[in-house]
Amino acid sequence: MVIVGGGPAGDAVAAGLRDAGFDGEITLVGAEPNPPYERPHLSKGYLLGTVPGERLPLRPAEQYRDLGVELVLGQRVVELGLERRAVELASGATIAWDRLCIATGSDARRLPDLEDALYLRELPQAERLRGLIERRGPLDIVGAGFIGCEVAAVATQKGCTVTVHEALEEPLLRVLGAELGGYLAGVHRAHGVDLRTSVASIPRPADNLLVAVGSVPRTHRGLRLDGGIVVDEFGRTSAPDVFAAGDVTKHFSPLYETHIRVEHFQTAQRQGFAVGRAMAGGTSPYSEAPWFWSDQYDLNVQYAGAGLPWEETVVRGDLGAPPFSVFYLQSGRPIAVAGVNDHHTVARARRLMGERKSVSAQQLADRTFDLRRALA
Ligand SMILES: Cc1cc2nc3c(=O)[nH]c(=O)nc-3n(C[C@H](O)[C@H](O)[C@H](O)COP(=O)(O)OP(=O)(O)OC[C@H]3O[C@@H](n4cnc5c(N)ncnc54)[C@H](O)[C@@H]3O)c2cc1C
Repeated sequence: MVIVGGGPAGDAVAAGLRDAGFDGEITLVGAEPNPPYERPHLSKGYLLGTVPGERLPLRPAEQYRDLGVELVLGQRVVELGLERRAVELASGATIAWDRLCIATGSDARRLPDLEDALYLRELPQAERLRGLIERRGPLDIVGAGFIGCEVAAVATQKGCTVTVHEALEEPLLRVLGAELGGYLAGVHRAHGVDLRTSVASIPRPADNLLVAVGSVPRTHRGLRLDGGIVVDEFGRTSAPDVFAAGDVTKHFSPLYETHIRVEHFQTAQRQGFAVGRAMAGGTSPYSEAPWFWSDQYDLNVQYAGAGLPWEETVVRGDLGAPPFSVFYLQSGRPIAVAGVNDHHTVARARRLMGERKSVSAQQLADRTFDLRRALA
């Protein structure tokens, strides 16, 4: 079994293969020199200095030995070899496979006229950004998505003068909507961030510019693509014996009855694990409501859902006075929830949505109604 990509998905595929009893050879090829690590820290604790580099790896090196996984790191796969069943590395070496899993993740989306700006995806870029923040100079950020907002929060806390340029009317508008986006805009401004929304063009600052405008999947020729490698609920691609997992995929979700592309750490791990099991002959489909978190100042924002369009929102608690949550409803049913310092609501709502339990908008809005009652 050959896994291409040493991120959280690739790591979990290897673990899933062993968990399902596969006892043959597993090789994990990763372009980064580091063993798989926890990327979400790169825009949070790693920049703040609360999470040192030693705490980034997903597991100690000896665990790969115990799992019998050969790590080939610092090597880029340049050809998947779908016909001849052998991947080719940039060095020219080849590794034969019986089954292949692509877990190459995503890359930061680049803006053509801002090629030389800083983009944040991998450790060396985070190191550069950390150095820049530690010098406490001015920092311009293009994009008020999660990464832009998290870096703005860290840099402000560290004493930088931060300006954020966002094309939409509110930060995080597409995922969280205007209510929560507007609330978070107020939070950033109250902390001193110069947040400029609805900007038509970005003034070109000389240095100290971070561009955080989303990501693009690192896809590959020869497979069915649709904004990601299209896979089913077992991670199977359109090519025989070729699987894919994590950010790079657009996977069929039995829960949402459609293909979804998810770019979250937990999904990369859990879907990856399920795909590894399926590669070893497992028969359990992956079907879960995706979940992620974001830390900004003293706020922990959690979201469960697939980012699908909604018709109405229902607020549980007082918008602007954490803990509170916003539910996103389609045809009267909650399809997503976002909570601010409201972990319990998000966890219960995620179960509700996963089990497709019905709960009225009134009950969702009523903080005295225990959501666990709807789960019974
Ligand atoms: C700064 C930052 C903050 C984030 N914060 C959060 C958060 O708070 N919560 C959350 O849920 N998610 C967060 N995410 C998203 C989360 O990290 C991703 O969803 C997750 O890392 C995806 O895992 P993956 O293994 O699919 O891909 P990746 O983590 O992108 O890993 C893919 C790996 O494959 C390697 N690779 C690519 N091409 C090749 C090739 N041809 N040959 C060999 N190797 C290759 C890459 O170098 C990389 O190491 C964050 C992401 C970033 C960048």
